[in-house]
Amino acid sequence: MNSNKETSTFHTFGDVQEKYFAYISNPDDRALIERAYKFADDKHTGILRKSGEPYIHHLIEVAYILASLQGGPHTIAAGFLHDVVEDTAVTVDDLKTIFNEDIASLVESLTNIQRLKLSHRKPEDFAAEDHRKIFLGMARDIRVIIIKLADRLHNMRTLQALSPTRQKVLAKESLEVFAPIAHRLGMFEIKTELEDLSIQYLEPEKFQMVVDQMDKRTKNREKSLDEVKKKIADMLLQYHLNFSIESRVKGIYSIYRKVFIQQHNFDEVYDILAIRVVTDTVAHCYEILGYIHAMFTPLSNRFKDYIAAPKPNLYQSIHTTIIAKDGQVFEVQIRTKEMNELAETGVAAHWRYKEGTNYSPQKEQKEIEEKLFWFRDLITLADKEGDAKEVMENLQKDIFEAQVYVFTPKGKLVELPNGSTPLDFAYRVHTGVGHAAVGAIVNGSLVPLNTILKTGDVIEIRTSNSSPGPNEGWLKIAHTATAKNHIRKFLQKKNNDMLREEKIIKGKQNCIDAFREHGIGEKEMLVLVHQPKVLEKFDMPTLDDLFVGMNNRNPAPAAIIEFLNIKKKPMFTLGKKPLQANKSAVLVPSAGKVAITLGSCCTPIPGDDIVGFITKGKGITVHRIHCPNISQSKNRLTDVVWNDQLETSLHPVDIRLESNDRQNLIVDIMGVFSQLKVSVTNLNAMLHPTTQTTTVNLTILVTDAKRLNDIFNVLLNIAGVYEIHRVTH
Ligand code: MN
Repeated sequence: MNSNKETSTFHTFGDVQEKYFAYISNPDDRALIERAYKFADDKHTGILRKSGEPYIHHLIEVAYILASLQGGPHTIAAGFLHDVVEDTAVTVDDLKTIFNEDIASLVESLTNIQRLKLSHRKPEDFAAEDHRKIFLGMARDIRVIIIKLADRLHNMRTLQALSPTRQKVLAKESLEVFAPIAHRLGMFEIKTELEDLSIQYLEPEKFQMVVDQMDKRTKNREKSLDEVKKKIADMLLQYHLNFSIESRVKGIYSIYRKVFIQQHNFDEVYDILAIRVVTDTVAHCYEILGYIHAMFTPLSNRFKDYIAAPKPNLYQSIHTTIIAKDGQVFEVQIRTKEMNELAETGVAAHWRYKEGTNYSPQKEQKEIEEKLFWFRDLITLADKEGDAKEVMENLQKDIFEAQVYVFTPKGKLVELPNGSTPLDFAYRVHTGVGHAAVGAIVNGSLVPLNTILKTGDVIEIRTSNSSPGPNEGWLKIAHTATAKNHIRKFLQKKNNDMLREEKIIKGKQNCIDAFREHGIGEKEMLVLVHQPKVLEKFDMPTLDDLFVGMNNRNPAPAAIIEFLNIKKKPMFTLGKKPLQANKSAVLVPSAGKVAITLGSCCTPIPGDDIVGFITKGKGITVHRIHCPNISQSKNRLTDVVWNDQLETSLHPVDIRLESNDRQNLIVDIMGVFSQLKVSVTNLNAMLHPTTQTTTVNLTILVTDAKRLNDIFNVLLNIAGVYEIHRVTH
């Protein structure tokens, strides 16, 4: 494919049809392509390219390139439609409805790549290497890469319409980003043309110099070349081998590289002209090699067998360099027809549309990736230069180990290691954003914080001021060291805060115990110690601070009791009954001695609002006032109160916790209980796969409702836990 020739070529839809009619005969597929063409033509009506020609010309040329590569109906249709979302009011959803999901998804990827406007970014933003990764990472489907290469090829062919500045930017990008990708995919024709066009704009003078030199040398060698070709042909005819022979001028850019970058003298560049012998079988390739080496002297260090050890981009051929009688040097390439097709169009040869087979883009993609993997093993046998190995390693890195490049809603690029999650992104943006993160919107949809980010994702972090902040589980979600460090620091601080919570509870308990010894219950105690004069006297800003102090007996509860001038009283009960007379946790003011049991349905605990239910012959059962089991029997209810004078004891209570499913959820829950010294007597967990949530049922032992409330607050801080409630059976 010679660039100068192709630049002036101008095709019609009929030309495209002629190309794909040759291998697509299904009337539905043909109609689909034609529909895509007409749709694009209609939608782009009135839009002109920079060159002044109607936009549809560009789309026809892109489709023509794709049909020349024997792309499938969806690929050619997507070629026609590739700019319709970016340049007109048509949406991806429209394409889903009007065409199909596959075509819409191809156009969507191409539009996303286009919207990154990579060539509009400043060069210092990122290197060509990153740029390639972004492109490969976003394309994901080999067809997207090939459509993009066809798009870029035509834009390069018509580059003269743009300003000199844009010409240079696009040429540089084509040379550094798109040509290497074409090379790695073995798409030699597109690669060569992109390179030659790029260098023509980047280094016009040197380009011209190479062209002139090549013309001169080709002419000088024409006679010699013809002689060599004739000799080879005559010999092969004699052996009745099936073959064709032609000569090829090397790409201008490859010569430019040898002369201007590798600093070779023009005379040292042997392979400006290559003779190519194409035959039918691999055995014949080696046979032909033998005959040629018998007839001409080979240059010993320039023999390469890419048939035994293919290049990672699938290229296969035998290369040998021979010296003609007159001393001229020629490279000879020997290969089969299949290898020749592969050498021209690379993966496109594999990807070539075959009618009648059950086409699946996923299967195709997998096949191509497997092929490339498969070749990695072969490289151990590869040439000594190590070139193939390096190419393969880079390809592997590009496709499989890339950093991911993601964007803020405002389009700022954020680079993260592969495997990063929205949490890493949040902490990269700002520590505060990380701490307050409650969810993430990736490409417009709400996703869990442990979603693995992909290149091209646009990420918005949802934050909440009431977020409990990071928890242990976040350490497993975060991938980057920075995010993990921020989370650890936060947890340390929270741990200190949690200790304070515990100190308050313990200090308060000390206080309750001390006051109870003086015949004063919890409620009265709270009123007494909360007086401003008490806080002032012991220099405590808040009641909590006072309790924290009392935990360390500073002040000691006795000091407060003394300050308040409280004398030890005989222990009378609330209901004016001596404590010894009633050890029941609940008292029934209206009744005398009666059997009292706590309802196992709603597990009431001290502090709950309760009511008594008069049973038939089994005394009174105590229920929480909203217990559904008693709502139908209002006439059998009686007032009951908690026995304030009873020493604190533990009561079982059933609770249910709802959480997003995640690893180590139960471990974290049990961790909280052990930290708070809460006994758990029963636990079962249920996973709901459809909602990815878990329900955990627990029975725990607590002293009272206040304590339970404190425990709930700590449990709600566990990552993923979004609801806790008590259970009534
Ligand atoms: Mn385009």
